[in-house]
Amino acid sequence: MAALVDAGLFEAPVPVALGGGWAGPVSARPLCETYRMLSGADASVALVGVMHPTVLAWWSQTEAEDQPAWSEQRAAVLATAMTGRQWGTVASEPGSGGDMLRTGTIAEPVGGEHEDLPGRRYRLTGDKHFGSGYGVCDYMFTTARVVGEEGPAAFFIDVRRRLEERSAHLRVTHEWDGAGMKGTQSHAVRLDGVEAVRLAWDGPIDTLAANAGGLVMALFTAVVLGVVDEAVATARGQLGSRFDELRAYEQVEWSRAVLDHWLAVQAYEGVLRAVEDGEPLAALRAGIRAKTATAELAESSLRRMTNVLGGGTFSQRSPFAHWFEDVRALGFLRPPWGLAFDTLFRTSQD
Ligand SMILES: Cc1cc2nc3c(=O)[nH]c(=O)nc-3n(C[C@H](O)[C@H](O)[C@H](O)COP(=O)(O)OP(=O)(O)OC[C@H]3O[C@@H](n4cnc5c(N)ncnc54)[C@H](O)[C@@H]3O)c2cc1C
Repeated sequence: MAALVDAGLFEAPVPVALGGGWAGPVSARPLCETYRMLSGADASVALVGVMHPTVLAWWSQTEAEDQPAWSEQRAAVLATAMTGRQWGTVASEPGSGGDMLRTGTIAEPVGGEHEDLPGRRYRLTGDKHFGSGYGVCDYMFTTARVVGEEGPAAFFIDVRRRLEERSAHLRVTHEWDGAGMKGTQSHAVRLDGVEAVRLAWDGPIDTLAANAGGLVMALFTAVVLGVVDEAVATARGQLGSRFDELRAYEQVEWSRAVLDHWLAVQAYEGVLRAVEDGEPLAALRAGIRAKTATAELAESSLRRMTNVLGGGTFSQRSPFAHWFEDVRALGFLRPPWGLAFDTLFRTSQD
């Protein structure tokens, strides 16, 4: 990760006005392409790394001059990325089906502010899981319900400080043992009155989520597409002179593996174009379609490739064994299958 910080990756999602590389929707493509390429080399590093721009998008994609507290926090949070601080998220909760607005975590206000970053402080209590980059990230985004309030609220935890203090308010309950995305440290954690800072946005947090959604889904899609790119290139190399000897079934499976990959690239291009158009709701719709379609196509493409390459791909020594599992992550990333299809159905009728 240090090399990626040195290369300026963490500054890339920070708006140019604040010293970073984000020049608006036109920057979506180079940012996604960077993670796509990185994922071909190491999907876990790419997935942990991509959480940084997806979380910062909650701030970077929504400006509000009439909300001085939001503007102040936005500038301060985005400035942390300019000094190499890494952001992640541990918002998912067991039983929420991946809907982070359906949180059961409780937030109670406490006095004062965070030492460095502006925003009201709370104490959070609840169970979270799938915190990709836990122990690596400096700050992690999460959601909770504030006692006495209707809707859910969004927060961030200064995880690095809590870990350095060996705080009992934040502890790992289950270490990550994923069959895919093995190196992501997506641990489950117990928040036991842990200190957190509330997002200073004055309004429903789904506005922030909607403004960021298209870009977030393009970034997740890029990570899994990078795995498929690499798998197709590797399979092509391995088949090499064997192409002439493939049986009819293998010829069809290989052709369809390549077709699935091509279709996934078209879906990804579709969301990138929608994000570049700068219309957040259209980008959100395109994003959910591209992410879901690519999740299906990536699984299908990998399965067909392994059918052609043979049983050796089942060996842990074969990269196809972990690529097969790595690509399955996309269907579970936000919004996971069930939640995604709720939205797909809702938005399929007009
Ligand atoms: C590789 C990978 C990386 C991810 N990275 C992140 C990340 O960085 N940050 C993040 O926030 N999310 C992350 N996610 C999570 C993702 O966004 C979804 O939240 C998650 O996949 C949804 O899981 P689920 O479908 O199992 O539903 P969940 O509802 O989350 O889990 C269902 C599980 O909870 C149990 N359960 C059901 N009801 C209850 C209940 N009432 N009480 C207790 N347990 C119950 C069930 O037995 C089942 O095992 C990641 C997921 C994957 C696969």
